[in-house]
Amino acid sequence: MEVIHQSTTIYNIIASHKKEGKTVGYVPTMGFLHEGHLALVEQARSQSDIVVMSIFVNPTQFGPNEDFETYPRDFEKDMELAKTHGVDYLFYPDVKEIYPNGIGYSVIVKERVNQLCGASRPGHFDGVATVLTKFFNIISPHYVFLGMKDAQQVAVVDGLVKSFHFPLKLIPVETVRESDGLAKSSRNIKLTEEERNQAPQLYQGLQKGLLLINNGDTDPLKVKKIILDYIKENAPLGEVDYVEVLSYPGLKEISVIDGKVILALAVKFKQARLIDNIVITIS
Ligand code: AMP
Repeated sequence: MEVIHQSTTIYNIIASHKKEGKTVGYVPTMGFLHEGHLALVEQARSQSDIVVMSIFVNPTQFGPNEDFETYPRDFEKDMELAKTHGVDYLFYPDVKEIYPNGIGYSVIVKERVNQLCGASRPGHFDGVATVLTKFFNIISPHYVFLGMKDAQQVAVVDGLVKSFHFPLKLIPVETVRESDGLAKSSRNIKLTEEERNQAPQLYQGLQKGLLLINNGDTDPLKVKKIILDYIKENAPLGEVDYVEVLSYPGLKEISVIDGKVILALAVKFKQARLIDNIVITIS
């Protein structure tokens, strides 16, 4: 595995691989790797000749009161994990390399961002879309692997790829969970012991909603309420940011649960805001 810091270097390497007819799979991350990230690498490995991972804690997707400074970082360990899991090129640029003009130019997203995390994190998806536009241009992959843990991100990037005609295919990968159901996240280490004990209840809450739907209920308000009540009762250390039931990937409000829908939530603990979701198709 080669670690690369300069965008022109990775650009030229990838170009020469593509000239040889190799397919390129790309896994964007902010590092502090766990099994969720590694599932993306595994999927990339299985369907591309060359696997590129980027590690970049992107400042423009963090709000002024968010955790950019304290976001967990451990490059040495990440490097080892990436190497042993079959990453060929680890792109690890600094902020100046990616934002040579500061933030003079950025992508603005108007669709699929007025709800869920987009509503509580204004500008977050502009930052995500901006940095991914840069990375897609630098790496020009055939495939991009994104986790469904960040389902709104998948929806927004799907819109980005179509809107800007990026010649690449987006591959969503299922959420990897701890054995107690908690979605793996780099932020889980910021939970206190007591919070960590309550955190699996978020997924349990989503399961309660799913059960209601599987039993034939089609009222999104009822499903939202059962999830909300469950979390308030079983994870009282968390403050619920939102619980939503929306169409997916359009993220539109619905009056009847039908077709592809997302049950999504965000809950704030003292040092970590956790998100989780379930996407299902009702026919
Ligand atoms: P991050 O480093 O948090 O920006 O995540 C990088 C990529 O890993 C994103 O596409 C995430 O959706 C994905 N990811 C993070 N956690 C998980 C997980 N538990 N399961 C699957 N993918 C994940």
